[in-house]
Amino acid sequence: MQNFPIFMSLRERRALVVGGGDAALHKVELLLAAGARVTLVAETVTGDIAQLIAEGRIAWGGHLFCDEDLFDVSLAIVASDDEALQARVSQAAQRLCVPVNVVDRPVLSSFIMPAIVDRGPITVAVSTGGAAPALARKLRAEIERALPAAIGRLAHFAEIFRAQVRRTLGEPQARRHFWDRVFDGRVGELALAGDEISARRELIRLLDEARNAPAQASGMVHLVGAGPGDPDLLTLKAHRLMQRADVLVYDRLVSAEVLSMARRDAEKVFVGKRRGHHCVPQDQINERLIALARAGKSVVRLKGGDPFVFGRGGEEIEALVAAGVAVEVVPGITAALGCAASAGIPLTHRDHAQACVFVTGHLRNGTVDLDWTVLARPRQTVVIYMGSETLSVIARELVHHGLPASTPVALIANGTTDRERRIVGTLGTIERQAMRAHLDGPALCLVGEVVGLALGRGQEFRFESRMGL
Ligand code: SAH
Repeated sequence: MQNFPIFMSLRERRALVVGGGDAALHKVELLLAAGARVTLVAETVTGDIAQLIAEGRIAWGGHLFCDEDLFDVSLAIVASDDEALQARVSQAAQRLCVPVNVVDRPVLSSFIMPAIVDRGPITVAVSTGGAAPALARKLRAEIERALPAAIGRLAHFAEIFRAQVRRTLGEPQARRHFWDRVFDGRVGELALAGDEISARRELIRLLDEARNAPAQASGMVHLVGAGPGDPDLLTLKAHRLMQRADVLVYDRLVSAEVLSMARRDAEKVFVGKRRGHHCVPQDQINERLIALARAGKSVVRLKGGDPFVFGRGGEEIEALVAAGVAVEVVPGITAALGCAASAGIPLTHRDHAQACVFVTGHLRNGTVDLDWTVLARPRQTVVIYMGSETLSVIARELVHHGLPASTPVALIANGTTDRERRIVGTLGTIERQAMRAHLDGPALCLVGEVVGLALGRGQEFRFESRMGL
């Protein structure tokens, strides 16, 4: 984190603005909106600023800046092109520990001004740490579009009931669940639509319900597909649940980028394999999930890709259902779909592949136990999960059962993430190529004519959503 984000109260505090042009006017307006008492120092001022001074809304501090202007000031902003003046105010302010911002001069500033979305009491501030202010503005526009204009009304509405809810529901977790229900349900809709009377009635009904049935607020497990790695490929539902969960239980396949989409203060439990250690055994994971749900927690069990594609999701569900724990499954984009899209490989194609088979290349009793005759059929795509270690056996058997050694093969590691690497070859060459490339991380193997189609385009292909915002 480049800068420490805080929201500072300036109500009834003094703020100094040095400069009298349009940029200064903009800062003055922001400071006034935050309730500050503004003093302005400038050689010349625009008509608008002159009017604010004449109306007594800001104080006139004179034409020339002197150190005394910083006396009793909580914040200083320099909006002047005069470089000598910029440096002088910056130094004086920093000597006196007054936070100072010099417009467009981060090196002279002790704080930077974020791009802001202002919706009543809700303020969203965006900063790129000074790296790309234009990008911050673009993000602000996206956020503005996503936040309904009336969201501020909803915040005011919640504020009215905050103390009452706190008194009624002692447990922080119960309060959080209550507010989730308020904001996501009819109360939120009614408040946003401006029907405050009905919204109040509904909120009071929900509060009664929560007070009378606290014990029933029992936990639940959501078995959630985290997709192949790119956080943009999470479903909306997965994202919403990750924002709400009390606990997240995840393993090695869940990328750090995806994990960072979870609520900051959610408890995060890793149950994967660490270097040099074994995975947590499946029955221990099941027991842990059951215990958390019984303790009333909302648990998100995050699994790479889709929980039901080589994810042991079926086993977890059985254990949870047997223990009487409520469970919900949220599908995710499985690695085959993510990797194929990323590489521009169509898994089916009218002219080249009428079927697509997903298999595991995992060793069972020391061998790869697959129906090679079925896999070696023409006009289909074969996707092999967990096949890195058995690649040589797979390639050899497919050729042995009739596929030409020239059949195109792609090996994709860390698909859809920034660490994605691809090797494209044929059944005859892929093993040697893989050995040379030393791929790291989970890798998927795709076999079939469709791989050649992507190659034929002769250009690097990346699916759009990774690049856009
Ligand atoms: N449930 C997961 C699969 C779990 S099995 C899903 O639906 O995707 C683990 C295997 O998935 C890995 O060995 C690898 O073959 C594949 N895999 C998962 N994520 C991947 C990724 N980002 N890139 C390439 N392969 C991946």
